[in-house]
Amino acid sequence: MTALVPVSRPYIWGEEKARLCEAIDAGWVSSRGPFLDQFEKRFAEKIGVGYAVATSSGTAAIHLALSVLDLQRHDEVIVPDFTMISPVLAVLACGAIPVPVDADETWNIDPDGIERAITEKTRAIVVVHTYGHPARIDRIVAIARRNKLRVVEDAAEALGARVFGRAVGSFGDLAIFSFYANKVLTTGEGGMVVTEDPRLYERLRAKRNLCFGADEETRFVHNEIGFNYRMTNLQAAMGVVQLQHLDEAIEAKIAIALEYNALLANVSGITTPPNFAWGPNVFWVYAVLVEDEFGLDRKTVQSELKRNGIETRRFFYPLHRQPIMPSAGIREAFPKSVSLSERGLYLPSFIGMGSSTIKQVAGCLTALRA
Ligand SMILES: *Cc1c(COP(=O)(O)O)cnc(C)c1O
Repeated sequence: MTALVPVSRPYIWGEEKARLCEAIDAGWVSSRGPFLDQFEKRFAEKIGVGYAVATSSGTAAIHLALSVLDLQRHDEVIVPDFTMISPVLAVLACGAIPVPVDADETWNIDPDGIERAITEKTRAIVVVHTYGHPARIDRIVAIARRNKLRVVEDAAEALGARVFGRAVGSFGDLAIFSFYANKVLTTGEGGMVVTEDPRLYERLRAKRNLCFGADEETRFVHNEIGFNYRMTNLQAAMGVVQLQHLDEAIEAKIAIALEYNALLANVSGITTPPNFAWGPNVFWVYAVLVEDEFGLDRKTVQSELKRNGIETRRFFYPLHRQPIMPSAGIREAFPKSVSLSERGLYLPSFIGMGSSTIKQVAGCLTALRA
């Protein structure tokens, strides 16, 4: 049996190996070193914020970011119902209650739903920019300011995307990114928290590294709870190279998506991904909806494509139906999130994927239409 066409595959530009060897030869193999400093500095510049703190994963990054908001038990944090689970796990780990809100036409959290979900207990809003398309973060930040709430952006799936020309990750009080192998910039495992606030930055740095005391005498006196969420200089060596090629990587993703769009535009029953002019999609993945008119449901489409050697991935499961979701946060119905979850899947869209493979996948999908 031949290998499936994968949904995703890390792209290595070439110089990663040399930088990695440099780090090893210099002896900077752990969580200090010149590549770490460089990676954080250049990443902050790329997003257009003051500070960046590299972490061991994106999940560590979102937990670290939420941990500096000092949430209390029974505090509420508004989150998307249609979301990857890491931000929700982080809210729960902080002891707070996630309050899900339904999706809008961008497949992201709906700003109007956020307004309705705010209570006296609300402390923060976590905005996830899903599958490469930004949420309406400008409106959400305005709502947050009016209600004195913090905003944390989970931009793990939308690195490089912009809203009215401004980079996602630069709108919130804090924002996080992931450099897992399937992300557009990878360090194998890794993540980043960014902020404009020097005080939050100092707390992020302390909490990333166990909250050691400030000087030799108090080094082992801990006034606050911290974590070991450090990134290594080895990961950062790879990150520095990947960051240099970020614009190219995003261009490649967009080119793949536009090719799919052209091939699938007239296939009835397939809805192509959102792409609004105010916040163009950077197509971290190429995601489509299988509508009723298609004649086969999403699950059948997935198994038929698999039979034809094509790997796909279904959409996230609605948060309000997750076994780990506390019922205290569930206050309404989530028709858009449920519909996305039932109908959505994403197709192979890895950098380096040739036109012939894109045509093969699109052709195979089109041929399934009953
Ligand atoms: C990938 C991802 C993360 C974090 O992932 P890690 O695998 O822990 O690096 C967080 N949020 C979203 C939306 C993601 O897609």
